[in-house]
Amino acid sequence: MLEIYNSLTRFKETFKPLHEGHVGMYVCGPTVYGDAHLGHARPAITFDLLYRYLQYLGYKVRYVRNITDVGHLEHDADEGEDKIAKKARLEQLEPMEVVQFYTNRYHRDMAALNVLPPSIEPHASGHIIEQIAFVQKILDKGYAYVSNGSVYMDVEKYAKDYPYGKLSGRNLNDIVTETRELDGQDEKKHSYDFALWKKAAPEHIMHWPSPWSEGFPGWHMECSTMGTKYLGETFDIHGGGLDLIFPHHEAEIAQSCAALGHESVHYWMHNNMITIAGKKMGKSYNNFITLEQFFRGNHPLLSKPFGPMVIRFFILQAHYRSTVDFSSEALEAAEKGLQRMQEAYARLQKLQAGKETTVEVEGLRQRCTEAMDDDLNTPFVIAALFDSTRAINTVHDGKGTISEADLKELREVWKTFAIDILGLRLEEQGSSDGKQKAFNGAIDLLLNIRLQAKQNKDWPTSDKIRNELTALGFQIKDTKDGFEWSI
Ligand code: ZN
Repeated sequence: MLEIYNSLTRFKETFKPLHEGHVGMYVCGPTVYGDAHLGHARPAITFDLLYRYLQYLGYKVRYVRNITDVGHLEHDADEGEDKIAKKARLEQLEPMEVVQFYTNRYHRDMAALNVLPPSIEPHASGHIIEQIAFVQKILDKGYAYVSNGSVYMDVEKYAKDYPYGKLSGRNLNDIVTETRELDGQDEKKHSYDFALWKKAAPEHIMHWPSPWSEGFPGWHMECSTMGTKYLGETFDIHGGGLDLIFPHHEAEIAQSCAALGHESVHYWMHNNMITIAGKKMGKSYNNFITLEQFFRGNHPLLSKPFGPMVIRFFILQAHYRSTVDFSSEALEAAEKGLQRMQEAYARLQKLQAGKETTVEVEGLRQRCTEAMDDDLNTPFVIAALFDSTRAINTVHDGKGTISEADLKELREVWKTFAIDILGLRLEEQGSSDGKQKAFNGAIDLLLNIRLQAKQNKDWPTSDKIRNELTALGFQIKDTKDGFEWSI
């Protein structure tokens, strides 16, 4: 049996890939029935960081991140959240149109966060045949039963042969008292049995034929199936949010052991959660903020828009296994920190080498490497880079010098750790915020020239500016202290 790890402490010493030079990595991806929010950004960025770091270490990585698009598209969701399914019905959309719509938007948001696309992005709905075969294997091994057209995992039977609950540290008694899922209770032998296949209710939009019923696979089934299909019966790393440990990942382990006789995953990695003003994100708190709302600043909890790199930096400032509490003030602080890095990076590109080094730049690469090696300790990497900004600023201010070799090394370390591994777009972000500032400034400048022209009774100039800006789509309003404009 594979030894199971749940973190990568002292990465270089403890991480042993199953195949020399190659790493297989599976991460539970989004359910695409709504826009991505802050809770989606954290796993995406955490495993993007790991993906980038593994590649930096020289591994060839096959990174599989799935799209969950099955099982959520029901007509009449009583949870209030599944408005999309209703939309699909009312607007006569194909469920796959809804899936494509939100998948495209997810990709757009991930690209904005500079999250690299995975090597393979399989859809659950594209792997129904494989999932049916996986369920059949579990049935053949005697760890599942058919009830009223649905197939359930026989958890009690399984737990006699394998340690169910080992990842989450639960035992069956804990699970009985915790199980809240009432769905299918009358069909199951025990409340903790989970569905491998569900017979579709008549109002369920997405369903497929199977040996047991017209239905759809249980949620946990897709990750066991697609993980092993693309990465092999055993693979290196499986990641996801901490909230997935139970029941999702525990169920995945059970499914693999039941069907294959062994575990599939060598290292489990879980990012911790983001809270909003101390509260969990959730429907009941009505505190979901979508990434688009962050980028546009149109949510009551936001003081202003925050660019995607601010969100990325905010998340990387915390270690992935610690909780992060979101507030507008915390993001404003992250924005200031990011700006300091951008300034330092811009200055670093312009520094001139001197004869000798009088500033402290030694050991930066080692500090960054050791921090990443210690279970991806990004706050330490950021602190080390910040420390080096003192040297950059000292040379920039002419109060110190740096040799050509040291300058080259300093630039390389920043490029490797800030740009390539942390994935911060230090140049572009500066320019995209900068672009907006420059644009607003230019319009203000034009309207100030117009104001002056008006005061000088230079009507042709004043009218020309007004008319041409209006023709370009600007709305200009004269006020008693000057002007207001919008597009
Ligand atoms: Zn999963």
